[in-house]
Amino acid sequence: MAQNDLLTELATRPLCCDGAMGTQLLARGLKGGKCGMLWNVDRTSDVREIHEAYRSAGADLVTTNSFGGSRFTLDRHGLADRADELNRAAAEIARVPAGETGWVLGDVGPFGDFLQPLGETTPDQLRDIFRQQIEALLAGGADAILLETMSDPAEAVIGIEAAKACETSVPAIVTYAFQKTASGSFRTMMGTTVDEAIQRAADSGAQIIGANCGTRLNLNDYVELAKQIVAVAGHAYVMIQPNAGRPHTEDGRTVYDATPEQMAMTTSQLLSSGVRIVGGCCGTTAEHLVAISRALKSL
Ligand SMILES: [Zn+2]
Repeated sequence: MAQNDLLTELATRPLCCDGAMGTQLLARGLKGGKCGMLWNVDRTSDVREIHEAYRSAGADLVTTNSFGGSRFTLDRHGLADRADELNRAAAEIARVPAGETGWVLGDVGPFGDFLQPLGETTPDQLRDIFRQQIEALLAGGADAILLETMSDPAEAVIGIEAAKACETSVPAIVTYAFQKTASGSFRTMMGTTVDEAIQRAADSGAQIIGANCGTRLNLNDYVELAKQIVAVAGHAYVMIQPNAGRPHTEDGRTVYDATPEQMAMTTSQLLSSGVRIVGGCCGTTAEHLVAISRALKSL
């Protein structure tokens, strides 16, 4: 475990989260559509090196390689029965580079389907699916649970409830993926407004709330979005993890081309808007993280 409580530390200073995991695994040879979580046991040194690079770049928080780690999601790869092992391994790998002065965020992504009535999964089933993943992340040494890239506040709330139901009490963090609509407002893919999404997470007891990813957002959009989140987050700390700019396609590949300098500028704007944790999502690299953490520490 980290030496200090994450929330106590946040009361004294802003913290730097890490950068992308998925795009880094792809850069190291993970084939699209394959399960990156198998690398937690088959290619542990690659995963550890990605964490170490972010940590030396200045990240205080290390996010586990477990985004698609619910047994529901793993089932698509025929790996549902290895959920405990793969999530626990994810946290154990992150624990070493995090050390006593860093915090491990146990990463939980969306389960990848709809709750009833749109889908077949009931809230109780989903709570149980999330709880299994979260227990394994905690067993591996996670200091907090990060429910990220959320679109449906009902799913986020169930994730928070699952985290709170675990034996070890750790902070629950929720970040949503917002898009910008034609009229200029921000909504999740499910059509939920910023106010509703953030309020419901706050009411359910998430101590840190914010946004990550968001495929059609440019860096200025994240700053605008952050201001709206801060306005409704109440006592919760706000965390923003932008992609490395708005992606475009080149020769069939998705390209993120924000420079480290642009990410640093955005970081300063986010912090002065009241954001307390800044990191990076898709397309961010250790070079971006150096710039983000410098901007954060020069405050
Ligand atoms: Zn992302």
